[in-house]
Amino acid sequence: MDYRDLPIRDDLRELTPYGAPQIDVPYPLNTNENPYGPPPELVADLARAVTEAATTLNRYPDRDATELRKDLADYLGHGLTVQNVWAANGSNEVLQQILQVFGGPGRRAIGFEPSYSMHRLIALATATEWISGLREGDYTLDADKAVAAIEKQRPNLVFLTSPNNPTGTAMELDVIRAVLKAADAVGAMVVVDEAYFEFARPGTPSALTLLPGVEGAQHPRLIVTRTMSKAFAMAGARVGYLAADPAVIDALLLVRLPYHLSALTQAAARTALKHVAALLGTVDAVKAQRDRIVAELTALGLDVVPSDANFVFFGVPGGDQQALWRKVLDHGVLIRDVGIPGRLRVTAGTEEETTAFLNALKESL
Ligand SMILES: *Cc1c(COP(=O)(O)O)cnc(C)c1O
Repeated sequence: MDYRDLPIRDDLRELTPYGAPQIDVPYPLNTNENPYGPPPELVADLARAVTEAATTLNRYPDRDATELRKDLADYLGHGLTVQNVWAANGSNEVLQQILQVFGGPGRRAIGFEPSYSMHRLIALATATEWISGLREGDYTLDADKAVAAIEKQRPNLVFLTSPNNPTGTAMELDVIRAVLKAADAVGAMVVVDEAYFEFARPGTPSALTLLPGVEGAQHPRLIVTRTMSKAFAMAGARVGYLAADPAVIDALLLVRLPYHLSALTQAAARTALKHVAALLGTVDAVKAQRDRIVAELTALGLDVVPSDANFVFFGVPGGDQQALWRKVLDHGVLIRDVGIPGRLRVTAGTEEETTAFLNALKESL
């Protein structure tokens, strides 16, 4: 039977599921994971922590994940406390909870594309209308145009992604400030998705500095989302989090499922946070490979977008990205076709993986 013959919601009929290919290849460089596995000391510590948590699995976990949220607040700094932080199974679940509270039928969210496709998909899955705002030709966001779009569309939610995925560049704080001012005027929440913040080039300020109480800023409708899936090398553990005014977290409690974050997940995340230095120690190596990709592709004459993330977005000579994607895959290197004509995205890997990609690309061009 076709699922469309089932009585699914009419508004879901036009959707297609999220589907980055999961192909078994020697060089998976398509979903922006950290190429370095957790260090052995962390793996050993995880085994101990999970064993300990296992002795209490007959009981429900701490519903509010208080200790984990404390640890996350300490990691974020800026004077943030447990009351400013919320955690869930990946930042995608955090985003879903945000949309369940602030979106829904009769409400609308705007994002500026190309950007993270899940913002649109989760909006639609929660029956929130999605408005596609536009970026400039170089993929930056023009503050005046963003403000005009917010004033015209009067959304309930505004999504910004910085560093942006799939293009890679971080946003100026002034652009975020302008968006916050316009959003405040129409009563909209502003979500800044900082999934890749740890990879940003030196001097890139975080939107965390605009939260209430931080450096005297006053934006109670600002939500900054982060994840342990990228720099923290914990994509398989499924841990995402956000920082916001405590009232935002009180609102999220209305929709979160009871005990959504398992005792095993909480134990794993807290253990990983004890190894921050080792985990983030890989970030510089990844950034070096990212900068190497940017330099080499530029030398090949390709059109490359500056990257503050662990991936590079580049133009395909001749414009046929599907053909190039396939040829590179034939060399065992899986990169990402995000559906933007003439463009591909590649994740920075280890030095060896990056070399494999660069060789595959040169032979494929
Ligand atoms: C990878 C990514 C996420 C992370 O999702 P998780 O559910 O935390 O794994 C969030 N936002 C963006 C922009 C991403 O690229």
